[in-house]
Amino acid sequence: MDTIAIDELKVLITGGASGIGAATARLLAADGAQVVIADVQDNSGQALANELGSRVHYQHLDVASPEDWERVIAFAVAEFGGLNALFNNAGIVGFTGLENSSPEEFKRVTDINLYGVFLGIHFVTPVLKKAGGGTIVNTSSTAGLQGYGGLAGYVASKWGVRGLTKAAALDLAPYNIRVMSLHPGPIRTSMTDGLPDNIAAAQPIPRFGEAVEVARMARFMFTEATYSTGSEFVIDGGAVTGQVLSW
Ligand code: NAD
Repeated sequence: MDTIAIDELKVLITGGASGIGAATARLLAADGAQVVIADVQDNSGQALANELGSRVHYQHLDVASPEDWERVIAFAVAEFGGLNALFNNAGIVGFTGLENSSPEEFKRVTDINLYGVFLGIHFVTPVLKKAGGGTIVNTSSTAGLQGYGGLAGYVASKWGVRGLTKAAALDLAPYNIRVMSLHPGPIRTSMTDGLPDNIAAAQPIPRFGEAVEVARMARFMFTEATYSTGSEFVIDGGAVTGQVLSW
């Protein structure tokens, strides 16, 4: 099976104005992909699209809004004649414990991180079917592989993304659509601003990752991982493998 040429990718990237999404937009656009950057940060999203050239567009998209999804998918279809890839990457962290978080905050985190991923899959599927197939990458986290204290909403949403990926991979396999989950560990982006370096100190690779390192993994998933679906791609400096201890 041949790899998928980057300049044939027509990809919608949610959360594309910042961090991992922005790094992926840069990497794919540099090799000729057509990209829609979709985000709620209109100024930085539009500025990035302008910088990356005429094959890249910005659209306002709140991933938790079905109406926004319909409008943005229609834009991409009109602009590119279709889509063959979706990077469901937007997310928020929300430090929500169990007793100390409001029900509204838990719902906000899961609406964006999990319901938003469902909406993306739901609305892009007919377009990918029409294209004869495609690739969906859903950003989960190491928080979709283990627990973290004080992050109940985030952990629940990211395990949900991992589970939704499995279900979607099975439902969409007959249509030549591959669906995978991406599981970053600590990555230096605006999401982790202010978190101390020592969070990563006991990992086998004892540093924060860079957004571009995750973007390279995403590029591989879109273009080269032609025998993977339902799979979990972990990029975490070894964090979930365990801690390096000296006794
Ligand atoms: P980031 O904050 O730099 O980027 C997240 C982007 O999502 C922002 O541009 C933000 O505006 C956008 N966004 C937020 N709510 C949105 C909404 N309702 N609709 C559309 N866009 C919205 O953070 P990042 O680290 O690049 O995060 C990207 C993804 O990676 C997230 O899903 C996050 O949970 C996941 N992740 C990040 C880390 C990390 O350490 N940075 C680790 C594991 C997983």
